[in-house]
Amino acid sequence: MNAGFLQTPVAYLKGVGPNRAETLQSELGIYVYQDLLNLFPNRYIDKTQYYKIGQLQKSNAEVQIVGKIVHIKTVEQKRGSRLVAKFIDETGEMELVWFRGQKWIRENLKLNVPYVIFGKCNWFNGSFSMPHPEMELLSEHEKNLRIHMQPVYPSTEKLSNKGITNRVLSKLIQQLFVETKGSFEETLSNKILDELKLISKSEALFNIHFPKNQELLAKAQFRLKFEELFYLQLQLIAKNMLHKQRIKGFNFDQVGPLFNDFYANHLPFELTDAQKRVIKEIRADLGSNAQMNRLLQGDVGSGKTIVAVMTMLLAIDNGFQACLVAPTEILANQHYIGIKELLQGTGVTCELLTGSVKKSVRKPIHEQLESGELHILIGTHAVLEDKVVFKNLGLAIIDEQHRFGVAQRSKLWHKGSPNSGEVGGATPPHILVMTATPIPRTLAMSLYGDLDISVIDELPPGRKPIKTVHRYDSNRLKVFHFIKEEIQKGRQVYIVYPLIQESEALDYKDLMDGYESIVRDFPQPQYQISIVHGQMKPEDKDYEMERFVKGETHIMVATTVIEVGVNVPNASVMIIESAERFGLSQLHQLRGRVGRGADQSYCILMTSYKLSSEAKTRLETMVQTNDGFEIAEVDLKLRGAGDIMGTQQSGMLNLKIADIVKDNTILKSARYFAMQLLKDDSTLEKPENLVIRHFYAELAKFKNIWNYIS
Ligand code: ADP
Ligand code: MG
Repeated sequence: MNAGFLQTPVAYLKGVGPNRAETLQSELGIYVYQDLLNLFPNRYIDKTQYYKIGQLQKSNAEVQIVGKIVHIKTVEQKRGSRLVAKFIDETGEMELVWFRGQKWIRENLKLNVPYVIFGKCNWFNGSFSMPHPEMELLSEHEKNLRIHMQPVYPSTEKLSNKGITNRVLSKLIQQLFVETKGSFEETLSNKILDELKLISKSEALFNIHFPKNQELLAKAQFRLKFEELFYLQLQLIAKNMLHKQRIKGFNFDQVGPLFNDFYANHLPFELTDAQKRVIKEIRADLGSNAQMNRLLQGDVGSGKTIVAVMTMLLAIDNGFQACLVAPTEILANQHYIGIKELLQGTGVTCELLTGSVKKSVRKPIHEQLESGELHILIGTHAVLEDKVVFKNLGLAIIDEQHRFGVAQRSKLWHKGSPNSGEVGGATPPHILVMTATPIPRTLAMSLYGDLDISVIDELPPGRKPIKTVHRYDSNRLKVFHFIKEEIQKGRQVYIVYPLIQESEALDYKDLMDGYESIVRDFPQPQYQISIVHGQMKPEDKDYEMERFVKGETHIMVATTVIEVGVNVPNASVMIIESAERFGLSQLHQLRGRVGRGADQSYCILMTSYKLSSEAKTRLETMVQTNDGFEIAEVDLKLRGAGDIMGTQQSGMLNLKIADIVKDNTILKSARYFAMQLLKDDSTLEKPENLVIRHFYAELAKFKNIWNYIS
């Protein structure tokens, strides 16, 4: 059946009509035949077995039995009535029970005729009973298409209210198979089918909806998952390749005096091998004539900043400007201070632009940007505003990607040099996205397949791994004692409260109560305490933060505003209150605030005794490992891909059957095959690949699966 036919509106399918079509649309997103065909079951009920009443176990399992109703009666109760039927086979008897729809059932049920019933069996008062069984006359049952494993489709309340039950859905799909004769165009090449011993598309679709047995079901699932992931990867890799061919970038062909002088005279430490490798990868991009789109992953403290600085020097050496955008003012500030210090004596000019920079200061910055006098601009979202105009922006760096949306990334694209662009538009700047929330490779491959990925997988030498422990609230006194010892040694301490929603009054109260009790236990003037939270004015926040950074205060009581990036090497203790309320990646980010100096650092996770099993797993993971990638893998398993990337990005992973986490192995093989294919035939022009080219184009046209093409 050709793909065009499958684009027929579902209302035209026999048994649907406009009413049901509307419900299918609103509840399941089913518009056309194709969507219905791709409505895959959530699970299957094994109806290959028939049970005898005499064999039933007290297990609450779903069973299928052949027998007859010999008697039916209505039983009146205080809370309404129920209909009870006596159901027998040659081995025993049981009850069938209905609480709803009694009138209809009473009128339609036939006595002493063989039925096949299906449902969950309960053991109650010495006998088995089955509430609201599915029932079918044995004669009908035998006539019907043999469905051994019954599919269970997604369902919603509205669907069942409108009478679109699982059985109805299954019937509609059967009808679809009748109309199409169950024959569907193949979507994978013979080469792939042969190499992976995949079953055909038609066979797979049939067996996903009407599996003949477990083995064929498994084959159908594998084939369809592979196909889905294969086309996902194909799309991402093709996009990346196309991008490199089409989008011209500024060519930074020289490693000039600034870079070399910095490397020889200003670098405050020896680069790690990982940093060297990543800089090499970036340099290769910058000299390739194509626009760079690179994601730099590196755990907290792995030293991404220096990589950013050296990349910016490459841009300036080649006559371009660069900018660095951070998600918060505090971070932008810290980058500004740190980078200015690094660049001292190099002649490179650098300014800060955030929302709170005064107009009088802004004006000269704007002017110097436009004249090209200013080399580097560091800031927050303020940098993205339209009125910020560069003379020739050659490189944009985004720190802490997870707070940035795709929209902002694209905004940077259009800040490229208006003068030296290719025909038909300005050349976009090279883009480097840095993230400290490691994304598991499998997820990165799917989400950012269109970006090139560099990883700093090594920490600078001499770092002592942070010691992490879990303590219950009842041990608070001991913990406070420990804090005092550390302060005695000249260290500083963070105490973080879970203000997940900055506006929630309850959380805010927790924080203030905590703060007051800390002030009591750590009296002035011996102890100085800072507090920072989201309800403070930016300038007050900055002032308090400053005091802590300068070492004027010993303890920083804060909410998660300090989560990202802040660097105070002398802080060696991180106390996280109500740690069970934080997600894993957040805990890891917070812990990353310590362990930045030469001293042994500690992270103490405080919780009450009441812990869910998932919270326990999170805490145990934190105690066991410091490795952000390992933590990210656990996080992915606990939460699934959607939650991790937030709704916006998870929308990109609108997978129908495959699961990025569970089908990791299939994903890898799909990526491998997609890569090989494009390497061998990048335009998909070889006759044997036409089938793939055709389906690929089909997908792009209808976009009903691949809606993440941006
Ligand atoms: P992150 O990757 O979290 O942004 P930073 O760039 O802030 O990490 O670096 C963390 C700390 O490590 C900084 O104090 C930085 O000066 C230091 N650092 C970075 N690279 C090295 C290195 N190769 N050797 C020693 N210290 C380094
Ligand atoms: Mg950083």
